[in-house]
Amino acid sequence: MTDTALDLLHRIFGHTAFRGEQALIVDHVTGGGDALVLMPTGGGKSLCYQIPALLREGTAIVVSPLIALMQNQVEALLQVGVRAAFLNSTLDAAAAAKVERELIAGEIDLLYVAPERLLTGRFLSLLDRASLGLFAIDEAHCVSQWGHDFRPEYRQLTVLHERWPHVRRIALTATADAPTRREIVERLALEDARQFVSSFDRPNIRYTVVPKDGAGTRQLLDVLIRHPGQSGIVYAMSRKRVESVAEQLCKAGLKALPYHAGMDAAVRAANQRRFLQEDGIVMVATIAFGMGIDKPDVRFVAHIDLPKSIEGYYQETGRAGRDGDASEAWLSYGLGDVVSLRQMIEQGEASSERKQLELRKLDALLGYCEATGCRRQALLRWFGEDHDGACGNCDNCLSPPQTWDGTDAARKALSAIYRTGQRFGVGQLVDVLRGARTDKVQQFGHSELAVFGVGADLEDREWRSVFRQLVAGGYIDVDVEHFGALRLTEAARPVLRGETALRFRTEAKATVRPRRDRRA
Ligand code: ADP
Ligand code: ZN
Repeated sequence: MTDTALDLLHRIFGHTAFRGEQALIVDHVTGGGDALVLMPTGGGKSLCYQIPALLREGTAIVVSPLIALMQNQVEALLQVGVRAAFLNSTLDAAAAAKVERELIAGEIDLLYVAPERLLTGRFLSLLDRASLGLFAIDEAHCVSQWGHDFRPEYRQLTVLHERWPHVRRIALTATADAPTRREIVERLALEDARQFVSSFDRPNIRYTVVPKDGAGTRQLLDVLIRHPGQSGIVYAMSRKRVESVAEQLCKAGLKALPYHAGMDAAVRAANQRRFLQEDGIVMVATIAFGMGIDKPDVRFVAHIDLPKSIEGYYQETGRAGRDGDASEAWLSYGLGDVVSLRQMIEQGEASSERKQLELRKLDALLGYCEATGCRRQALLRWFGEDHDGACGNCDNCLSPPQTWDGTDAARKALSAIYRTGQRFGVGQLVDVLRGARTDKVQQFGHSELAVFGVGADLEDREWRSVFRQLVAGGYIDVDVEHFGALRLTEAARPVLRGETALRFRTEAKATVRPRRDRRA
């Protein structure tokens, strides 16, 4: 390690030591190597290009997808005396021209630029006249069309390599699953870049998954009560959900603000500012919120609905506890979420290949939710990282779930689906199993079936848990074209024939308290 890098770390950035792989990366890039850096959110990616930018001759061009992100970074750099600037649509012509003059004059060490700006013919020829030291491509997963941050312009960034092959490149991302990694390498022509894969473990985050009770608001409030006056994010599935959850939290006396892409831009920006500046704001948001938000003391990230994939989930929960203090990642989900998400996927515009991939990702997440082992181990395994389990800081480690022999219940559940013609959702199936003579049960003559009432020994929520676990295990499919009707898969056959034994996790009763409205 060169002393100068450490000097800069102390003198300019005020840190005592490099963290994790930072020293190796800085050394490699400063020495003239290309790099692909995979580091979790909050891991310290910025320094990995900022220090080489200062140590190498010429200007470093930093490609960044978010205007808010680049402005924050530039402000922070200017404060510590680094010659940094940005070029994006917020600058007027005069200010932009000034930055361009400084670039040509070699007076800028780090220039942040949005990809669409970078790719203009005008800007590229401007770069021809500048002395370039480094290209840094931040949020590199934006090249992946499978991710939810896809930015088509990112795919054209190979122009940098083609036009200035002698300028070193460093690409950085917090999204590390193998397919995305491969896509980054391929799309950005980084085959020769050295890959630096940091551990994605965030030991200070405690993971918990619970089955959703009703709309989940009451359970959410129980979580928020554990964090009085603390900042946090609540992710919900849709804009409508965001608004209604935010409203309910406000009614409960919390400082909750909504955030989604359908809101007025000024209100959205104001809400974001308040979240960053005030203590104790609960931001209720869709996934539109979060990328580039650098708030160190977010104490909880709660998903009141099922997210779309393990990668998305991990990135969102990664926004908790960047300061290293104990933080919470809490998720509640029900079969209704699975139905809604499958519907969104199938009714979307994507190609059928992409839809298949998204459905598989959703299944993987469902498997995670129903897992009985260490959550951390399951999450890290998804990113190709080994962890020996028993982390001591997830719900399953802290109170190992009990399991029960569900072979008989599974058979009953599967027969109920079969006997009712594979046309009904979980509500009707549970009513049939428990022998509830509802109008809908009578209307379809389901009280005449042999399975009617054979499951009276289990409670409603226990049956729902059985169905969820059967879906997670791949024994049942959700037919989104028929309003979430449950269907048997091939894997259900041996279970129906009694050839496969199944164990299910026992739902903790303690989390389900009587509803106040029922008591009244
Ligand atoms: P990322 O971009 O990977 O999410 P950042 O580069 O924004 O992470 O860094 C996250 C936080 O960690 C910042 O507050 C930063 O100041 C701090 N940080 C980064 N490197 C170090 C270090 N070597 N020592 C102490 N703090 C660091
Ligand atoms: Zn664990």
